[in-house]
Amino acid sequence: MQRVFSGIQPSGELHIGNYLGAVRNWVALHSEYECIFCVVDLHAITQPYEPKELAPRTLEMAVGLLAAGLDPERCTLFVQSHVPEHAELAWALSTVAPLGDLERMTQFKDKAAREETVPAALLNYPVLQAADILLYLAEKVPVGEDQLQHLELAREIARRWNARFGTALFPEPQPVLSKARRIVGLDGNAKMSKSLGNTIGVLESPEAIWEKLRPAMTDPARKTRRDPGTPEICNIYALHQHFSTPDEVEHVAQMCRTAGWGCLDCKRLLADNMIAALAPMRERAADLKAHPERVRGVLGRGAEHCRRLAGATMARVREAMGLAPRSA
Ligand code: SF4
Repeated sequence: MQRVFSGIQPSGELHIGNYLGAVRNWVALHSEYECIFCVVDLHAITQPYEPKELAPRTLEMAVGLLAAGLDPERCTLFVQSHVPEHAELAWALSTVAPLGDLERMTQFKDKAAREETVPAALLNYPVLQAADILLYLAEKVPVGEDQLQHLELAREIARRWNARFGTALFPEPQPVLSKARRIVGLDGNAKMSKSLGNTIGVLESPEAIWEKLRPAMTDPARKTRRDPGTPEICNIYALHQHFSTPDEVEHVAQMCRTAGWGCLDCKRLLADNMIAALAPMRERAADLKAHPERVRGVLGRGAEHCRRLAGATMARVREAMGLAPRSA
């Protein structure tokens, strides 16, 4: 069975962009692959953050992932910093990672442009990502389109390291693209992202979901209820395609084009369907939050399993790189 690796930032509560764009796909991969999933707290510290919030957010993300359907009996879930070999391999890979390629990464350029002083960790972020994947010799990586550039760099790093040290240790990981490639936020512009404040959390209450959907951006041509709209350019219509039945989606498009209803009616139907779809996750999350020791147990067993795998890879890396063997 091929091995899959993927990670998610500890941004706290899982939002529907994370769920539709990544986690739903992760759940579907359980039966086809040996899956390793990780909450990437070492990546999170490359950006300004509040240290007191990091551990609770990491645990909250783990709760969200388990509530969303990750099954710890069929996949491994752990916290990145609990397996120190991630950082060790990142250092080893940085010896072959081309500086020019790192400086050309779109995400680095975007993030660096917003910083007064650019931390080296921001530049090395894709090297750590390569280490995350290569540490487990993973062949497949479920990614969004915005991560394809980093995955291509991971392949380049694997090729260079294998060539430099004369082995074929690292496979060149291939992407598994999610069907829902880019979930747009409630502002109707940018990708749904916690940092942009345009999200709906999968564990939010029905009231909170409605409060967020009500003012969400729609087709600006629908200035009044009598103005017809174009559903294809409206993000509410895009969300209906994930939460409503095919018949409802068709009804939404027709009512929009003919000004048969107002945007609030359309959003109410979406809210009802979204609330119903997310209800089982909210229930599972409430149960997990009442028993945090279960979540810690899952993460502990996951880290233990991953330390074993990572230890075996690092022994081969150290030997290939000529580092002195450790004494027993
Ligand atoms: S009716 Fe629905 S699909 Fe049409 S613009 Fe309004 S919210 Fe969007």
